[in-house]
Amino acid sequence: MGLREECGVVGVVGDSEAANLIYLSLYALQHRGQEAAGIVTINKEGKFCGHKTVGLVGDGFSKETLSKLVGRVGIGHNRYSTHGGRMLQNIQPFSFSTAFGSLAIAHNGNLTNADTLRKQLEEEGSIFQSTSDTEIFMHLLVKSQKNSILSRIVEVMGKVKGAYSLLLLAEDRLFALRDPYGFRPLVIGRRGRAAVIASETCALDLIDAEFEREVAPGEVIEIHNDGFIKSHIAVESQRKAFCSFEPIYFARPDSQIFNEEIYSLRKRMGAILARESNVDADVVIAVPDSGVPMALGYANEVGLPLELGLVRNHYVGRTFIEPSQSIRDFGVKLKLNPVGSSLRGKKVVVVDDSLVRGTTSVKILRMIRQAGATEIHMRLGSPPITYSCYFGVDTPERSSLLAAQRNVEEMREFIGADSLAFLSTEGLREALGNGNSENYCYGCFNGDYPEDVGIVPRKQPTDDQGGPGLRAGL
Ligand code: AMP
Repeated sequence: MGLREECGVVGVVGDSEAANLIYLSLYALQHRGQEAAGIVTINKEGKFCGHKTVGLVGDGFSKETLSKLVGRVGIGHNRYSTHGGRMLQNIQPFSFSTAFGSLAIAHNGNLTNADTLRKQLEEEGSIFQSTSDTEIFMHLLVKSQKNSILSRIVEVMGKVKGAYSLLLLAEDRLFALRDPYGFRPLVIGRRGRAAVIASETCALDLIDAEFEREVAPGEVIEIHNDGFIKSHIAVESQRKAFCSFEPIYFARPDSQIFNEEIYSLRKRMGAILARESNVDADVVIAVPDSGVPMALGYANEVGLPLELGLVRNHYVGRTFIEPSQSIRDFGVKLKLNPVGSSLRGKKVVVVDDSLVRGTTSVKILRMIRQAGATEIHMRLGSPPITYSCYFGVDTPERSSLLAAQRNVEEMREFIGADSLAFLSTEGLREALGNGNSENYCYGCFNGDYPEDVGIVPRKQPTDDQGGPGLRAGL
């Protein structure tokens, strides 16, 4: 497979402060990618001005670098890459000089036929500068025989498969496109006459841009340098497949994507989880930050107090300590510390959004127990993750997914909880809304991908809560 990436993208058209606005928006999208960031603008002479940095947006752009990014049109990208893909050449936006002008590209998603396309292109003489599947899009675009950029884009959309919410800067115009399934979000905002495109609405809020609508699956939005927007349906969307993990974990709770307010949706998930797996307890706590709205929904539903049981240190970036046995909990303790008075002598419900490898939960539960909790009931606001994602979320190989290897009882034992329960797939569908739930991809929960990903997944058992002797997902 190509490189898997979770990312945030933003584009601004028609504002002399384009670079500053992109910079600020990238802050709001920092949760979508923390490993690298980049901005490319176009100056009056039609030349690209760009800056890329490893690490957080706030660390990599100075006043001076931003002042060099002149122009009224630009795009930006926050990147999170998985193993093997941390080369500098992979930092986006990518920019190219081509026979039909300068082009820059920023992509959120993952092309599922990247390997095949790349091989074909290389055999035909293409030379790649990065290992990113995004570059494939550019090569296909340049090789197209069509006359206009738009018709080239439409042709390429017919060739690539998988997930792409993508921004393409072509001289003074910005194209924003979304794959026909609409896996990843992409929203359109207005700031006076200027147009803003971003992965999530929280990026619009920060720069006082007003949310207009989402880019539709299969749609190409063309924005001229005066902010004028034209819409083209490039590929008819046969089936929508919004990523269900976006509302569960990935998107910010103050965002509105997939026609949903994420905070309300997460609270709904928590409430349904509570109805499905209520337990005798004294207090509900969240694993911050992602578990907070679900814990709130859970506590409201059962009438238990929601307490601050874990405090998160927000100043910890990525740590590269490979802890020895004696300090192996330091990694998680750097990030989280238990609040004794919330936990001591209590039966505690711990709510988190998801269980992936299970390694974080093991450490968190040990900490909570050491802080004096008498019982720990772990509740997850999503079903067991039993398959990898091929559409842009960084889930590990199946062999590392706890729920692909163990049933619920075995997982409970592994993480050290007194009880363990997951939101059922029916509960997740209910939260996503009857009628709308068909528009989501549940591939990581049931192996039923909307598009062929080159593996033959075996269906999950109907009882997705597992059971003694029953392996969830196998
Ligand atoms: P684990 O220890 O692997 O089970 O990690 C579970 C924790 O990781 C949960 O608290 C989730 O909020 C968080 N999480 C889930 N998916 C991802 C992801 N794709 N990238 C980073 N963190 C994640």
